[in-house]
Amino acid sequence: MPANRIPEIQLPAPRLSETHEPTPETLTRSQAHARPESFPDVVVVGAGPTGLACAIEAEKAGFKSLIIDKGCLVNSIYHYPTNMVFFTTPELLEVGDIPFTTALAKPTRLEALEYYRRVADHFQLHIRQYEWVKTITGEDGKFCVTTTDRHSAIRDYRTRKIVVATGYYDLANKLNIPGEELEKVFHYYKEPHPYYDTDVLVIGGKNSAAEAALDLWRHGARVTLVHRAAQMHPHVKYWVRPDIENRIKAGEIEAHFNSTVQEIGPDSVVVKTPGGTVRLKNDFVFALTGYHPDYDFLRSVGIELSPEQLRPVCDPETLESNVPGIYVAGVIVAGSRTNEIFIENGRFHGKLIANHLSERLGRGNPNFPLDAT
Ligand SMILES: Cc1cc2nc3c(=O)[nH]c(=O)nc-3n(C[C@H](O)[C@H](O)[C@H](O)COP(=O)(O)OP(=O)(O)OC[C@H]3O[C@@H](n4cnc5c(N)ncnc54)[C@H](O)[C@@H]3O)c2cc1C
Repeated sequence: MPANRIPEIQLPAPRLSETHEPTPETLTRSQAHARPESFPDVVVVGAGPTGLACAIEAEKAGFKSLIIDKGCLVNSIYHYPTNMVFFTTPELLEVGDIPFTTALAKPTRLEALEYYRRVADHFQLHIRQYEWVKTITGEDGKFCVTTTDRHSAIRDYRTRKIVVATGYYDLANKLNIPGEELEKVFHYYKEPHPYYDTDVLVIGGKNSAAEAALDLWRHGARVTLVHRAAQMHPHVKYWVRPDIENRIKAGEIEAHFNSTVQEIGPDSVVVKTPGGTVRLKNDFVFALTGYHPDYDFLRSVGIELSPEQLRPVCDPETLESNVPGIYVAGVIVAGSRTNEIFIENGRFHGKLIANHLSERLGRGNPNFPLDAT
């Protein structure tokens, strides 16, 4: 598995009620029957905080919705560093007006996972986990969504409207340097323990890099940080910034600014610094240089992207894309500017979309509700 992809979750054996025969290779596509529950008004692709908010608001407006995620509920948050603390206070992570309270000022990843599970339970959301949406065909009012589940079985869903809320955390920005494909190179950071008493290079200058460098150093790794800019990014959390800067000042974490990694070898890395090129002893590399939306998936469903920032073309009032009936929501709306939309503001996309759905499909509209025959 390439290290720049979120690792697959090892799943327990499915319960009997969840088992089914995989679609045989020889079955023609027209015979791949949709299941009875597969005629929602709206299919939401992605069970992140935004996807949940979209489904909740659609349900509140009277539309049957189905969420499909290739991983687990809030899959991205599940894959964040194990001991991560959000920079946002809990009330700003709330969806569906369900209160989120925490013991301390900022919620932990574990608290957020618990919260979003409770939200899903509370609204009895229909969520198909571990199903990867591969294609969307058809047209407004008559879409067909095709997924592949974890047993490689194909499933089809028919729906009138689609919300794409696929986030950005699945695809890491690659360095494109020799050695990046080595097994010791990671684009996701989870925990410090395996790196005790080893030489670790952290690449990047934002929150993920700063927090990983500190966590690794505090748990006994020898850490070097390399960042292409002159200093840590100004958006580093206000309580993390002095910590990392003081560790660097004290020489506890070695840092090279205005520097780039040129090459990664089995036991060393080559770094180009303002003072010349240096070779550093190295056991592991965390290249924490950001992530990006799955632009190919967006294009494959017909969504046009702006030339430079790759923002999906959409009506900012309704979030309907250039493809009638397909909406975009959450961080993908910002294209490559992934620091513009967070949970804090992306959670409001659900209401915008639900309002437009009501206008288009609302009661009184002769097409409501969906005829599932
Ligand atoms: C370490 C870290 C800390 C952060 N801290 C904060 C914070 O404190 N406050 C804040 O507001 N924001 C924070 N963010 C940003 C925030 O988490 C994201 O902006 C937010 O998760 C985006 O929500 P989303 O629902 O748009 O996407 P996601 O949460 O990424 O959800 C997208 C979902 O879509 C699924 N998916 C993708 N493609 C497919 C497909 N083809 N088929 C089916 N499913 C698919 C994914 O599995 C995923 O579950 C942080 C981000 C990181 C990386």
